[in-house]
Amino acid sequence: MIVDVVLGSERRARRRFQRDALARACYDERGVFLEGRRAELDLLRAMGGVEPSLGRLYEGHFNAALLVALFGNEEQRRRAHRDATAAELFAVWNTQDQDPVRIEPRRSGYVLSGAKTWASGADSVTRALITARRRDGGVQMCLVPLDRCSATVDDSTWRPHGMADSNSFRVAFDEIELVEDDLIGAPDDYERNPWFGGGALRFVAVHAGIVDRLMRETLTYLVQQGRSEDPYQRARAGELRVAAQSARNWLRTGEDAWNAFDAAPTERNAATVVDAVDMARVAVERAALDSIELAVRSVGAHGLVEPLPFSKLICDLQMYLRQPAPDAALARVGTAGFLHVNASRSAVIADSTGSSR
Ligand SMILES: Cc1cc2nc3c(=O)[nH]c(=O)nc-3n(C[C@H](O)[C@H](O)[C@H](O)COP(=O)(O)OP(=O)(O)OC[C@H]3O[C@@H](n4cnc5c(N)ncnc54)[C@H](O)[C@@H]3O)c2cc1C
Repeated sequence: MIVDVVLGSERRARRRFQRDALARACYDERGVFLEGRRAELDLLRAMGGVEPSLGRLYEGHFNAALLVALFGNEEQRRRAHRDATAAELFAVWNTQDQDPVRIEPRRSGYVLSGAKTWASGADSVTRALITARRRDGGVQMCLVPLDRCSATVDDSTWRPHGMADSNSFRVAFDEIELVEDDLIGAPDDYERNPWFGGGALRFVAVHAGIVDRLMRETLTYLVQQGRSEDPYQRARAGELRVAAQSARNWLRTGEDAWNAFDAAPTERNAATVVDAVDMARVAVERAALDSIELAVRSVGAHGLVEPLPFSKLICDLQMYLRQPAPDAALARVGTAGFLHVNASRSAVIADSTGSSR
């Protein structure tokens, strides 16, 4: 079924977010969450624990607010802040369809054509930050007011393994007219580090929230079933707790790296952010996959029948864990390790040469 996008008021009626939750997406022009990094990550983690798809939408809303704060001009920042306060839902739609989104200059402005896939919240977002390919190959961010222009939402192929409620549909833009004011930042700002690579910490936070919920639901179920005294179940409960705590600890490692960068935005601190967040991604993915196995063994087939929460939680987590370029993140972690070893060897050699003089 192809659904033509309807006006924002109707979408707003379907939205399950609390108004104040959306209004909290406030960043300064350095990209720092106004309530602090800890609060940002805690909010995302909590939202993941409530409902994974809501966590995904919230994560996109935060990312868009951050990108406008970081790369937008003063007027764009002011407007985005006002819109978020008025409970407009933002998103970042970067993943290209086979017919990728491109932007062409026109005499009076620009024209946007092509389609995005995996556009989370396609039925409810009113402010979509979309990346568009320019003629010269650069990537331009555009903030598209979906309640004021017509895009086509296609949910016909949306039958996912999990995260069905994220409504990550295909959205097509057929010659949408934009003005200069709808363009955010300069070409290729979207992929600037540490915000691009280090931004993965937001989805890691939501994943950590889902892992925590899976642990709590499993332990509660075992108590309800009178199975908490069994030594095997106790051992798995212990491992589940360790996995959930590891995920939280890795979030703190990422947070510390961001705090160091916020205090001193040097190239070295930027590289540390990307490295720490890459490691957090890898470690939290491992903790999540282990938790899924432990939970399934603990609750058994009986536990995987709805309305018990396990089947949906596990499918959602398995699906949401599939984020861009996981192999590349792990390879970067390995490469950084070799760079550190080589740097320390050079330092030792320089030291010994210096001291022998
Ligand atoms: C629930 C959900 C919501 C989403 N919402 C949004 C959204 O709102 N906006 C948005 O922009 N995107 C969204 N996405 C898309 C997301 O950002 C990723 O692009 C997508 O999940 C990656 O899909 P994939 O695992 O099939 O990737 P792939 O890139 O196909 O990766 C699959 C595997 O292949 C490896 N691989 C990758 N590239 C290569 C290569 N060149 N050669 C060999 N191996 C390779 C990867 O490391 C991985 O192991 C969403 C995804 C999910 C699951």
